[in-house]
Amino acid sequence: MAKKMIAGNWKMYKNNSEALRLIKQLRNRLEKNPARKSKIVICPPFTALSLAAKELASSRIELGAQNIFWEEEGAYTGEISADMVKSTGAKWTIIGHSERRQYFKEDEKVINRKIKLALKKKLKVIFCIGETLELRQQNLTKDIVTNQVEWGLKDLDPAQLKNIVTAYEPVWAIGTGKTATPDQAQEIHSFLREIIDALFGAGTGQKMTILYGGSVKPDNAEGLFSRPDIDGALVGGACLDASSFMKIIKAGEGVF
Ligand code: PEP
Repeated sequence: MAKKMIAGNWKMYKNNSEALRLIKQLRNRLEKNPARKSKIVICPPFTALSLAAKELASSRIELGAQNIFWEEEGAYTGEISADMVKSTGAKWTIIGHSERRQYFKEDEKVINRKIKLALKKKLKVIFCIGETLELRQQNLTKDIVTNQVEWGLKDLDPAQLKNIVTAYEPVWAIGTGKTATPDQAQEIHSFLREIIDALFGAGTGQKMTILYGGSVKPDNAEGLFSRPDIDGALVGGACLDASSFMKIIKAGEGVF
């Protein structure tokens, strides 16, 4: 099995002492796991990034933020810049998560600005896309994800794609316990590779890491990971518990 990437989005959970406890539990479990094949990224809240970076200093777990602001700096009370994230030791940021799109009205232009800024500041990006249930029922999934990719990655050059991972996260599957079936996810992942090829040139789609996200749990991870175009997972709820996250990591490594 090709090397998988498993990323954990902690959302707005875990104060600093809880974050430290979870990271220590994860580190302990990983040290006992000899396979060491997958790429692992955790995205705690901003407030825990510095302490997480310290705790992860000699670990294989990489660190990411859940968001950045679209401007480099300025009078934007309450916002966090790419530089600030970078200075914590984080290497990644999630951009375009459906909760940012839904609750904070982030549109494709904002997401594109954020992606460009993240890349400029040398942060790698987990770029999230996905359709709502309503749009899936109208048979518009492929139109929606095409639009999201076209706009989100607008003006980028193919060489920049190596610092972007796409996460296909159907909105109806996030936090709902309703996972896309492996067939549903596979269909869209392979379609995404075609779109990327069309936008950036033949072969670019195949090189892109495409994660599936939406209620990935220990008991459904193996089925999803068995599909050829599913390169890993962006995990929400199940990453808040070291044992479930570890089971998903092991499913990605073919260890049970
Ligand atoms: C997410 O937050 O990106 C996510 C996929 O959440 P969950 O796994 O809880 O559905």
